[in-house]
Amino acid sequence: MSKLLSIIVPCYNEEETVEPFYDEFKKLEPFFTEKDLDVELIYVDDGSKDKTLEKVKALRERDQRIHAISFSRNFGKEAGIYAGLQRAKGDFAVLMDVDLQDPPSLLPEMYSYIEEGYDSVATRRVDRKGEPAIRSFFARTFYKLMKKISKTDIVDGARDYRLMTRQVVDAILSMSEYNRFTKGIFGWVGFETKWLEYENIERTKGETKWSFWKLFLYSLDGIMAFSTAPLAIASFMGLLFCATAFIFIWFIMIRKWIFGDPVSGWPSLVCIILTIAGIQLFCIGVIGEYLAKMYMEVKNRPIYLIKEEI
Ligand code: UDP
Ligand code: MG
Repeated sequence: MSKLLSIIVPCYNEEETVEPFYDEFKKLEPFFTEKDLDVELIYVDDGSKDKTLEKVKALRERDQRIHAISFSRNFGKEAGIYAGLQRAKGDFAVLMDVDLQDPPSLLPEMYSYIEEGYDSVATRRVDRKGEPAIRSFFARTFYKLMKKISKTDIVDGARDYRLMTRQVVDAILSMSEYNRFTKGIFGWVGFETKWLEYENIERTKGETKWSFWKLFLYSLDGIMAFSTAPLAIASFMGLLFCATAFIFIWFIMIRKWIFGDPVSGWPSLVCIILTIAGIQLFCIGVIGEYLAKMYMEVKNRPIYLIKEEI
């Protein structure tokens, strides 16, 4: 009996890349026949403001295996992935970027590992060629930090390009949290994963949807979703400052008793007050961030809203 493979492609303002992606997909036809695979191609239109959806509809005229979900607005790639996985009926599912940075030609090799018995085949890029140096630096720092403060395995350079069995898909869907950091979710669910490596491929058309600021906020999401270390650091700093203050008080008192030094110097006092006030505000901010995340989770809002389904 033939198996069904679901290919999920999140798209946001990708009118230029929808068709080239389909052309690449067509090149995999011999592989699908050889392995006796039925395919469904699910485009998730993440509230695009350009002609992405029209382009997908046009393709659908030519190829009935194409499906599309269109969101009511931009909900972000993570929501797109979740929606796609929910719709996927396949025995296997694969996530791919539409900009061809996740080469579809790698799919046969990925599939061979699933046949070998792996539950999921993930990819990571080994370099960051063509990326601004500052962005690479912050990305590296983020992964190093995550390694230290999170128990979940989050791999440097990991892409969302991943082939999974039904079992893994269901595991990911069972995590219905609102703040979705997919890279962490993949690590959290576990299972036997084979890592494939490839060199970074630059986007052919269109442009990246991630500004530096968006990436920075995303990294904070990642830290807060998979680590509570910042909270521990806040408590630790509190203790540290208490201890310092205690030692300082004794130092000043002893200086007064033994040497009769007058207690003087408001500039130093101002500095101390400012430092401590700053640290306190910082810690309250950290706690507030977690509280905000909890607030969003408790509200239990849907992760995405569908406007149209094809
Ligand atoms: N994407 C999306 N919603 C967003 C941002 C991006 O569905 O809000 C999709 C985008 O269309 C692409 C993939 O996610 O298929 C990766 O985005 P992009 O290429 O801009 O990111 P980069 O490769 O630069 O990390
Ligand atoms: Mg890209």
